[in-house]
Amino acid sequence: MYKAKAYSAASASSPLASTSIARRDPTETDVQIEILFCGICHSDLHQVRNEWSGVMPTVYPCVPGHEIVGRVTKVGAGVTKFKAGDLAAVGCMVDSDGTCPACKEGLEQFCPNMTLTYNFPDKHLGGVTYGGYSESVVVDERFVLRVPGNLDLAGTAPLLCAGITTYSPMRHWGVTKGQKVGVVGLGGLGHMAVKFAHALGAHTVVFTTSPGKVDDALRLGADEVVISRDANAMQKHAGSFNFILDAVSAEHDINAYLGLLARDGNLTLVGAPEKPFPVSAFSLLFGRRSLSGSPIGGIAETQEMLDFCGAHGITSDVEVIPMQKVNEAYERLVKADVKYRFSIDMASLKG
Ligand code: NAP
Ligand code: ZN
Repeated sequence: MYKAKAYSAASASSPLASTSIARRDPTETDVQIEILFCGICHSDLHQVRNEWSGVMPTVYPCVPGHEIVGRVTKVGAGVTKFKAGDLAAVGCMVDSDGTCPACKEGLEQFCPNMTLTYNFPDKHLGGVTYGGYSESVVVDERFVLRVPGNLDLAGTAPLLCAGITTYSPMRHWGVTKGQKVGVVGLGGLGHMAVKFAHALGAHTVVFTTSPGKVDDALRLGADEVVISRDANAMQKHAGSFNFILDAVSAEHDINAYLGLLARDGNLTLVGAPEKPFPVSAFSLLFGRRSLSGSPIGGIAETQEMLDFCGAHGITSDVEVIPMQKVNEAYERLVKADVKYRFSIDMASLKG
C-alpha cells in the first residue's frame, strides 16, 4: 500500500477537504495511473450529499470522481495493453466478475458483482473504493481505457461518464440521420448528448430552463432550442420526436416531454433526481410511447465512444479548476451554472 493525496467529504453536510488515502500497490493485472484531470459529475454531488440514500447510501469519508484521465506510471507483470508513460482513462467502474452473462456480452454495467469507482466495497483493501479526486489510482487493466492522442485531456476526462452515459442510449435506441432527437437539460450530460446527436446526423432540439444557454446550445450543435418553461413553444413540438434523452438532475414534469414523442418514440432517463416523479399512463399509451432508463455503458462501448470522439474531434466544453475550488464548483452545479463541465487540474494537488 502507499499513500495518495485526495479530497474527501467527512459527512453529507461537510465540504470536501484535503486528505490522504491508501492505494494498493499494483497487482499482476493492475495499472497505476497518475491522474491529470478528473471531471465533476452531478452524481459526485448527489453521492457526497447522500441524496441517493435509499438506493446507494454514502459511506464516509467519500472520495468521489469517475471521469479520470492520466498517465500510466507502473503496470503489473501480466498487463499487456498499457506501459508506463501511456495515456489512460478510467470511468465509473473498476471491476466486475467477468463471468456473468452481462460481462460476457460486454455489458459490465449490469454485472451483479460490478464495482463502482467510488463508494463501493473495495475487494482489495476492504472499506469502500475511492475515486478520482486524487493524485493517483490503481485499476485492473480490463477497466482502463485508451485515450485518442489528438484530444485535449481536460476535455476528455468528462467523456468517461457524461460521454458514455449519453452515447450508449443513443446507440441502443438507434439514433441516426433523419430522426428528431430532444435533449432535456443543458448541463454536463446534456451538452455531450447534443454533440453526439448532432454527430450522428439527427435533427437535435435542446430543452432548457436557462434562456442564457440558447446561443451555446446552437454552437454545440443544436438545430433548435426550446425554453421549457414556455408552454406554447413546447406545444409546437407535440408528437414529433423519435427519441428524447432526459439529463435533468432535479425534479421536473416528464409528462410534458412524453407528450412530445411521436408514435413508438422513446424517452430515456439518464438524469437521476433524488425523488420519484409521477408518470401519466395516457402520456405513454397514446402513441405506444416508451419510457426507459440507462446507466453509464460497458467497457467496449466506452472505448468505441472514445474512438468516435477521437475521429470526430469531440471533447467536453470544460471550465478547468484547481482542486481547492471544488466546493465552489458544487454550489454552481446546484444552480445549473456550469459551462458545461468542471474538470479538475490535478496538478493543483501537488506541493
Ligand atoms: P448538471 O451538469 O448539473 O446538469 C443538469 C442540468 O439539468 C442543468 O444544467 C439544468 O439544465 C437542468 N436542471 C437543473 N435543475 C433543474 C430543474 N429544477 N428543472 C429543470 N431542469 C433543471 O448535471 P450532470 O452531471 O449532467 O448530471 C445530470 C443528471 O444525470 C444527474 O442527476 C446525475 O446524477 C445523472 N447521471 C446519471 C448517469 C447515469 O448513468 N444514468 C451518469 C451520470 C450522471 P438547463 O439549465 O439547461 O435547464
Ligand atoms: Zn458521472
